[in-house]
Amino acid sequence: MLVDPFARAIRYLRVSVTDRCDFRCTYCMSENMTFLPKADLLTLEELDRLASAFIRMGVQKLRITGGEPLVRKGILTFFEAMSRHLATGSLHELTLTTNASQLARFAEPLAALGVRRVNVSLDTLDPDRFAAITRWGRLAQVLDGIAAAKAAGLRVKINTVALKGMNEDALFPLLDWCAAEGHDLTFIEVMPMGEDMSPLRLDQFWPLKDLRARLAARFTLTDLAERSGGPARYVRVEETGQKLGFITPLTHNFCESCNRVRLTCTGQLYLCLGQDDAADLRTPLRMSAEDSGLEAAIRAAIARKPRGHDFDYSRNRVNGRIARHMSHTGG
Ligand code: SAM
Repeated sequence: MLVDPFARAIRYLRVSVTDRCDFRCTYCMSENMTFLPKADLLTLEELDRLASAFIRMGVQKLRITGGEPLVRKGILTFFEAMSRHLATGSLHELTLTTNASQLARFAEPLAALGVRRVNVSLDTLDPDRFAAITRWGRLAQVLDGIAAAKAAGLRVKINTVALKGMNEDALFPLLDWCAAEGHDLTFIEVMPMGEDMSPLRLDQFWPLKDLRARLAARFTLTDLAERSGGPARYVRVEETGQKLGFITPLTHNFCESCNRVRLTCTGQLYLCLGQDDAADLRTPLRMSAEDSGLEAAIRAAIARKPRGHDFDYSRNRVNGRIARHMSHTGG
């Protein structure tokens, strides 16, 4: 089992399978991205070997992310490889985070491979605003993807980044639509990250405290004690019965229960969302066809997992130091 120095068992691995994306969300990527050379990327076989090592060492939940995971060529091969761990019972959940642009063709095969839930990032239901936020995205395609997921029996959670001046007016339409469609909904506070984010859009920072106050003006919100082991806190909207999540990554109110680590598509293991420390697993992976060196490197990395993170908008470090984090580690 993998246990870090603060007695937290590591059960959850997020794997970014590509740095590429077919969208260019303004808060995540610049319009002219330079992506990694192919040779730097782990092959699907290498990703399988790495993820399987983590599963052998106690990881029970795997989330596939990106970039956009569904634009990685041959990605179903990887899901298929991971589904064998579902079959043995060592992996409890195989899931993904996607922009849904490719979900219309992938939903059914994913469901057939044992995926039960999918997180879809969607910041607005207004087509023009959607195009402005994602730059390259088309809302209709995304809505088709979400409908396909629902039709395939996947449970859908919508993740919405709160952006001042960009999707404030999307709040109630999103809430109503999720209630009607039966999707869960979670709001995420925008983080000072992403490529080329310079003085990160502090003007775009919409604190969830304010968003919540706006909801509370129309609905009765009841705090729920329930925690998913992750960073979300939940409320129930009494009038609709919906459960809403709030993720405020800038506060570190969830570090004590953090059970997750993040693997990039080049084999770097990030130990904490808000810190730059990463361990190189590609070298031990490629050094030997046998896994003992890799497992030792994983243990050594977990021994470095920090107690928690400490974002601070007032410090300049956030722009330079954790700049490329989101598009590489997939959130
Ligand atoms: N392409 C996939 C998607 O759209 O869900 C997976 C990768 S994307 C980087 C994962 C999540 O990170 C998305 O929900 C996205 O909105 C979120 N994200 C990206 N940049 C962010 C930022 N600066 N602050 C908060 N969330 C961010």
